[in-house]
Amino acid sequence: MKVLVPIKRVIDANVQVRVKADQSGVELTNVKMAMNPFCEIAVEQAVRMKEAGTATEVVLVSVGNQSAQETLRAGLAMGADRGVHVQTDDDLEPLAVAKLLKAVVEKEEAGLVVLGKQAIDGDNNQTGQMLSALLGWSQGTFISEMELAGDTVKVTREVDGGLQKVDIKMPAILTVDLRLNEPRFASLPNIMKAKKKPIDAMSAADLGVDVAPRLKVLKVEEPAARAAGVKVANVAELVDKLKNEAKVI
Ligand code: AMP
Repeated sequence: MKVLVPIKRVIDANVQVRVKADQSGVELTNVKMAMNPFCEIAVEQAVRMKEAGTATEVVLVSVGNQSAQETLRAGLAMGADRGVHVQTDDDLEPLAVAKLLKAVVEKEEAGLVVLGKQAIDGDNNQTGQMLSALLGWSQGTFISEMELAGDTVKVTREVDGGLQKVDIKMPAILTVDLRLNEPRFASLPNIMKAKKKPIDAMSAADLGVDVAPRLKVLKVEEPAARAAGVKVANVAELVDKLKNEAKVI
């Protein structure tokens, strides 16, 4: 079974994000970028499936500008077999990405798609679910465990109330949560090997997909600065403040 892993290049999780002066988005110039952390977990899971013999090939897909190829190389160095780069200079919305991914899934005849549960730039948490709907495939979201059993995949989902176990029919879309695994660091020999692995480049037009935006960003703002807190001397003072100042009790 061929496993497809969509990976996104985002601002590195350790970078303090700044809003552009014209409020049209966040500043990306000279900012350190990296693979979205949840996508790293997805790549790790697919590579483990290949090592266990349950996946025959792991194909990475990234939709983005030329730099997306660096992110694909990083995933190839973790052990994936090859990459697909869907070239675009626009930051596409989840529906457009899901439509492109659907076209790649069909072209590649993949049997399973493993995505991150969300990309930490827009925190959308939509692409996997939309892809599942477009393909008509079953979905297991926010998974922290998975096990293949014939034409079923048994997953444990992280939900508000705790953990939920679900059996899902293949072919399926899985979106991964933090506790699924700990992604490996790529070794130097594997980084060298990854340079020779193939990456196919194509455009949205090659895939016959209309990626025209349906959404419009009106304005991006910094969150309001938090007011300084106060220290109270004792419980009585705290209760008094909650009652008479904050008026919450
Ligand atoms: P989102 O719905 O934007 O929070 O993203 C969820 C997941 O969808 C990510 O972790 C990726 O696996 C995938 N994804 C989102 N955008 C892209 C993209 N531009 N290229 C490849 N995969 C993407």
